Amino acid sequence: MQSAIIFDYTKKNFYSLTPLVATIDNIKDLQDIDLLLEEDIDSIRIRKLLEKYTNLIIAFSFRTAQFEDIYIRMKAIYSSLKKTELERITFIAGGSHPSGSPSTTLKSGFDFVFIGEAEYSLTEFIRRNLQEDDLFKTPGISFMEDEKLILTPRPDPIKLDEYPFISKKRRLYPPLEISRGCSFGCTFCQVPKLFHHRTRHRSPEILLDVIKWMGTKKLNDIRFITPNSFGYMSPKPKEVNKDAILHLLSSIKSTPGIDNVYYGTFPGEVRPETVSYDLMSDIQPMISNSRISIGLQSGSNKVLKDIRRGHTVEEGINAIEILDDIGFTPIVDIIIGLPTATEEDEMATINVIRHLIKRNSIIRAHVFMPLPGTSLEKTEFKPVYPKIKKILGKLSFQGKLEGNWSHQEKHALNAWKLNQRIANMPFIQREDNL
Ligand code: SF4
Repeated sequence: MQSAIIFDYTKKNFYSLTPLVATIDNIKDLQDIDLLLEEDIDSIRIRKLLEKYTNLIIAFSFRTAQFEDIYIRMKAIYSSLKKTELERITFIAGGSHPSGSPSTTLKSGFDFVFIGEAEYSLTEFIRRNLQEDDLFKTPGISFMEDEKLILTPRPDPIKLDEYPFISKKRRLYPPLEISRGCSFGCTFCQVPKLFHHRTRHRSPEILLDVIKWMGTKKLNDIRFITPNSFGYMSPKPKEVNKDAILHLLSSIKSTPGIDNVYYGTFPGEVRPETVSYDLMSDIQPMISNSRISIGLQSGSNKVLKDIRRGHTVEEGINAIEILDDIGFTPIVDIIIGLPTATEEDEMATINVIRHLIKRNSIIRAHVFMPLPGTSLEKTEFKPVYPKIKKILGKLSFQGKLEGNWSHQEKHALNAWKLNQRIANMPFIQREDNL
């Protein structure tokens, strides 16, 4: 009989969980714990696992948009398992929602929350678990003690080159994470707080070594994760290190077995000020994608300033026109319902959207949701102005908007309400949580 750590590993969280799985697999002194991946784990499966293991650590990673689902699943697990079974389980959580709102996460039945990146803190937690050491002294975690929320000191940001990002052993290949953290401070975004305000990059040598191996295994499509694709290896947030990007892309292109390289696509969009005719013409022959994802967010300069976006509407339109001129289809992210956006501001955004559609853009419109861990987290949810909703609904019907526009407002509102409701609950005992 021994312990196991189970990751609730799904299509929605495998980007963030794979580096952790690979990290644990690579550390020799952590091999006394079994590591299992289970999709949408439930009480039936947990009970089965409890027949084999003395103790389980069950790990979830989720975004705020998924919080409602996770809450419902935790509620079902708590109500189905006996107290004696629950006592043998430690529920842990990480990811953008738990990191931004450890209190609501803990109130939903989790014992520990891992704040931000967890390569170091989670391995330290497992080590302590194996050595029967004090779990509460693990750095970078949050838990409840005497009805108070405790946060232990966060460890230093990790050096990306020292940690794996795919799992060869388990054949898990998410898009390759080339950069982490963001020096910009858009007020709606969780990235800077989650991964620190300084962007770290994975070196080309480390990336190319893995890509070479992928080529030998016929894993011939290469995609990337980064907060800003054209910021790769850049010493300053608004500058482009063109040499570094071209070196990376040309080296990948000449790697045997690699057929397709997708750069500047989700989940690695680009910022407007980094787009230029020069850069785009140079990289076009090296990449396979005809689309480039770019964040504009609003067609109102006042709103862009309020959200500290760091670029103007004109810079955004200019970048998108360059993409179109070179022959790329721009996929443009827009946020509707930002706190200071008046109906007039939203109409300005609609006018920009109409212009961009004429320039072959596809718009990805998102309804603003105040996300925990951002400077806007305490903002009230604001319904979309009916006139704006009608226009966007029509554009969506015509196929000009990408994504599931019609359900977004409802999902955003539900997630926000749930967060508010749990935030207002008092801290209570673990077994009575749900
Ligand atoms: S939206 Fe993009 S640029 Fe702005 S803080 Fe987030 S990751 Fe950085």
